[in-house]
Amino acid sequence: MIQAKLVQSGRFELEEVAKPQVRANEVLIRVKNAGICGTDIHSFNGKHPFISTPIVPGHEFSGVIVEIGQEVPQEMFSIDQKATVEPSLVCGKCYNCQIGRYNICDHLIVLGCQTDGAFKEFISVPWQKVVPLDDFMSFEDAAMLEPLAVGIHAVEIGKVNRGDHVLVIGSGVIGLLLAQAAEVRGAIVTIVDISEKRLSKAIDLGIKNVINSSKEDILTSINMISKNGIDTIFECVGHPSTILQSIEIARKGSRVVIVGVVNEGVMLPVNLIQDRELELLGDLMYTKKDFDKAKNLVAEGKANLKDLQTKTFDLKDVQSAFEFIEQYKDTTFKVLLRV
Ligand SMILES: [Zn+2]
Ligand SMILES: [Zn+2]
Repeated sequence: MIQAKLVQSGRFELEEVAKPQVRANEVLIRVKNAGICGTDIHSFNGKHPFISTPIVPGHEFSGVIVEIGQEVPQEMFSIDQKATVEPSLVCGKCYNCQIGRYNICDHLIVLGCQTDGAFKEFISVPWQKVVPLDDFMSFEDAAMLEPLAVGIHAVEIGKVNRGDHVLVIGSGVIGLLLAQAAEVRGAIVTIVDISEKRLSKAIDLGIKNVINSSKEDILTSINMISKNGIDTIFECVGHPSTILQSIEIARKGSRVVIVGVVNEGVMLPVNLIQDRELELLGDLMYTKKDFDKAKNLVAEGKANLKDLQTKTFDLKDVQSAFEFIEQYKDTTFKVLLRV
């Protein structure tokens, strides 16, 4: 089979390798679509704090089940069934695994990040990680359940309730999926970005309030939207300046959730956090519960994934796909690989 390996920052190579052997507790999936995530772009640029090359990326993907290991509960899966995979491999033994927060497992390994992922024709994964899907879901949408689960989990971490005002900093794929998840929870969502083009996507998706922070003063705009300010701010950029900004604009007694991946330490105004009784929360990945919710939201037509799919490349053109994203940053949302 063919796989696409990031051999060093900026350079992919296609390799012919043996099809994986299916272990007794595993399910073999013929990969159909794999999304390219901001994380993959970071590692392509050699800037991700926890990923090193060489690596076969790919942690958001869909496909069909082609083989089922002997010790897998046979009633749970069937051959030719559509599926996606929760890409977190966890120890099951550490404290957080024991209490169900395995997304922050002490020994967390993510497919495509710390071990080879799905930029390849076949991948064999533990059956517990396989999410079987109904036939009606497109492979493209199925490959985006992972980033949608990220948004759903963040909304959970941010304790978003009906009627809350939510501010999302960053009108990228994660920000826009998170915004949709917050709306499903009944929140009133405002998106902030510095790019008019990215904000117009938010408007297309039906997000009511947008703020272009390169042109408008955020606090003035927030005051026009909500007389009591914002209940939860989600930072989805992962840049020191926007992290700082999210704390500076936070209302007294509100929450700030850091969703974006930051590759450096950031000096924070702890005086503001203390004086305003802010809750500063970290956020990482998701658990199966969030994946199931993602699946249901798509089934119920409550999440629009399709309008975020910018372009699909063949796996063999993976290098061009990454270069395309670099070139058209402002207008590119999700780029997928067809395997
Ligand atoms: Zn991702
Ligand atoms: Zn663990």
